[in-house]
Amino acid sequence: SDRLLDVKDLRTSFFTHVGEVKAIRGVDLHIDKGEALGIVGESGSGKSVTSMSVMRLLQKPGKIIGGEILFDGEDLMNKTEKEMQGIRGNDISMIFQDPMTSLNPVYKIGDQIMEAIIKHQNLSKSEAREKAIEMLKLVGIPSPESRIDNYPHEFSGGMRQRAMIAMALSCEPQLLIADEPTTALDVTIQAQILELMNDLRDRLGTSIILITHDLGVVADVCSRIIVMYGGLIMEEGSVDDIFYRPKHPYTLGLIKSIPKISEKENKERLYPIPGSPPDLLNPPKGCPFAARCDYAMKICMQQMPEYTHVSDKHRAACWLLHPDAPKVEGVNSDIK
Ligand code: SF4
Ligand code: MG
Repeated sequence: SDRLLDVKDLRTSFFTHVGEVKAIRGVDLHIDKGEALGIVGESGSGKSVTSMSVMRLLQKPGKIIGGEILFDGEDLMNKTEKEMQGIRGNDISMIFQDPMTSLNPVYKIGDQIMEAIIKHQNLSKSEAREKAIEMLKLVGIPSPESRIDNYPHEFSGGMRQRAMIAMALSCEPQLLIADEPTTALDVTIQAQILELMNDLRDRLGTSIILITHDLGVVADVCSRIIVMYGGLIMEEGSVDDIFYRPKHPYTLGLIKSIPKISEKENKERLYPIPGSPPDLLNPPKGCPFAARCDYAMKICMQQMPEYTHVSDKHRAACWLLHPDAPKVEGVNSDIK
């Protein structure tokens, strides 16, 4: 089949000294071969914990407490740590926000990239070195011929980020999970890296999960978007569904928060949806967005809404989508 990853009813908690923080509270998601999926949401929405769970990279006190993670037909939940190590950086590779988590500080940058290339492509050492230089050039490292023998600490933060991306792409993985891969980079490099990810997908059929708080970034790469909040999926749909026909008030708020082109350089901009995410130590009984939602009704505080399937691939969890809900212009007024 075309299905590469199928996550069902994923639940992940952090067992802290003050209690159980229910970070992921039942997430279903899938990705097909060659598809690019965006997961968006504010920090604390559960988007990074979802990807760390899929990679089985959660550290204590984090623990997957339920669900299924099928990758290429195999259940990752039953893999040993050793088997997972074989899958990571081979079939699934990950780009983190913090490059030091995947670059080894004691090896030269070039050697680390060459190792990934040699492992996955049938190239000689000198060909791999050429390829590593080419990869470093692709991600925007200036004069890569002279930088390839540097150690990670000799690179700036932005350059380390780009080197890590070069390394992740060199593996030619089936699935690339990128968590805020371009957040720390300037707009030009950011565009180049997104372009590189698109190219990888076109050329090798790599599936991509792009995790970000920035809806503008997903539009460049992804065809489908999942919007997360409070450890749950609020809305899922095609890029067009999410941008032009959003149904969930949280998605509407995110779209309104996309900066204008002229403001793009301003990365420190404040998040414009007032209020903060729910406390997942004591998750709300009803809709997690209720405390911040302009349209919240009594039932929203009492009961979590079910998903309404607006169309074949478009679903959202909001009481406004219930047939008896009052009509709100620009939200649910077009729904029968
Ligand atoms: Fe707002 Fe209620 Fe919909 Fe939640 S369920 S997003 S509180 S209207
Ligand atoms: Mg994160």
